[in-house]
Amino acid sequence: MQIILSHTEENIIETIARAAQQLQMPAYLIGGFVRDKILERPTKDADIVCLGDGIELAHAVAKLFHPHPSVAFFKNFGTAQIKLPLPDGTLFEVEFVGARKESYTEQSRKPTVVAGTLQEDQLRRDFTINAMGISLNANDYGTLLDPFNGMRDLKAKMIQTPLDPLQTFSDDPLRMMRAIRFAAQLNFSIAAVTFDAIQKDAHRIKIVSQERITDELNKILLSPKPGIGFDLLSQSGILSIIFPQMMALHGAENIDGKGHKDNFYHTLKVIDNIAKETDDLWLRWAALLHDIGKPATKRFETGHGFTFHGHEVVGARMVPKIFAQLKLPMNEKMRQVKKLVELHLRPISLTKENITDSAIRRLLFDAGDDIDALMLLCNADITSKNKQKVHRYLQNFEMVKERMKEVEEKDHLRNWQPPLSGEDVMRVFGLPPGRKVGIIKDAIREAILDGIIPNTYEDAYTFMLQKAASLNLQPI
Ligand code: ATP
Ligand code: MG
Repeated sequence: MQIILSHTEENIIETIARAAQQLQMPAYLIGGFVRDKILERPTKDADIVCLGDGIELAHAVAKLFHPHPSVAFFKNFGTAQIKLPLPDGTLFEVEFVGARKESYTEQSRKPTVVAGTLQEDQLRRDFTINAMGISLNANDYGTLLDPFNGMRDLKAKMIQTPLDPLQTFSDDPLRMMRAIRFAAQLNFSIAAVTFDAIQKDAHRIKIVSQERITDELNKILLSPKPGIGFDLLSQSGILSIIFPQMMALHGAENIDGKGHKDNFYHTLKVIDNIAKETDDLWLRWAALLHDIGKPATKRFETGHGFTFHGHEVVGARMVPKIFAQLKLPMNEKMRQVKKLVELHLRPISLTKENITDSAIRRLLFDAGDDIDALMLLCNADITSKNKQKVHRYLQNFEMVKERMKEVEEKDHLRNWQPPLSGEDVMRVFGLPPGRKVGIIKDAIREAILDGIIPNTYEDAYTFMLQKAASLNLQPI
């Protein structure tokens, strides 16, 4: 089998082969590394399966490198891992495991594992394209071992299981999501029998841990066209179980000739659009969730049509709940996604009226460091089929961006702090922390954002004295 390896990869693989030969233990490259090398995709890890103790092989390999990498091993699973430095400063991970066969019982995730042959090990892998091995043994070094014709399926861009798909999915239902993830990552099709089995077994996704499910969701979202994956999740019946809020975006209703677009397919287009512009997972989540508040706010107004008033506020409020439900991190990233969902209509609203500087200033202040991300999201949100319309929207955005640049240069609002703080107010008037301090501080900020006073210390000070006087306060 001819695959293209970097010099470092070649060195790593030959060293593994040498260690295996020293131990007289047959060993094979297997799974994702073989698949990705044949497809000429970049790889950052490799799996080795051996006929013997994977932990012993890992130690033997580690000894041949200088300095010796440490071996992380898990006795219960019989797996071991070493990390080797690459020329670009990153690490290449190699995982070792003894060939095995395993079976899961109907209700439990705990597999029983026993040693097996290479073929048995290949049989328990999820897809034919993930079950190919390459020999590292002296007698047939480099031979492709492909009992299920993974090579044919790679060429046909086809995902199918080596066994009866119902069997493969019943052993580990996460494989149903992996099939969909590979379809999105590689732009492959899922074989009809395999997809039928996914539809039939979709409910069994319930026994899989949320962490494993969310890992796959993130990988789908990070693929070149995430929309492919979410469409398949929806068609398979899995999405309604793991993410009903997204499923609720489906449907384009029509009353008395007034309709609205299908928010599910619109959302898929928005994620595909943003995927062309950024690899940032959280911006992609923001695109996925930007209209999530629409089903809850949908109304029909006679004579006017469907409205979704306040969907950005309702949607933003849903973000923390969805993050908690999906066990996504409840940190700064969640807050960024929430903010982007909440602000996603603002730049569009700025293209409509005769826009004042103060409206632009407010957006810069509210978006802060996320302003560029917000503009990317808004661009991606334009999904009209009408080319002229799209062109007009994009032009309007360019104008808003231009205005933002001018205002930003003038007022520096991006990470702006008002020139007088709450502490300043307390000091000048001898006030304890309390309601009055808040009123004065907010009034200063609003006055500057509204352009009533310039953004300087002196102007803010004068304004503060006036505002305080109206509250019967004098400087001490
Ligand atoms: P990626 O690294 O992009 O997630 P991968 O196919 O390399 O994709 P890994 O999780 O690294 O996936 O697993 C390596 C190999 O182990 C797979 O190619 C497959 O042969 C096997 N494998 C992984 N997870 C499963 C699973 N849930 N069921 C069956 N086989 C699996
Ligand atoms: Mg891998």
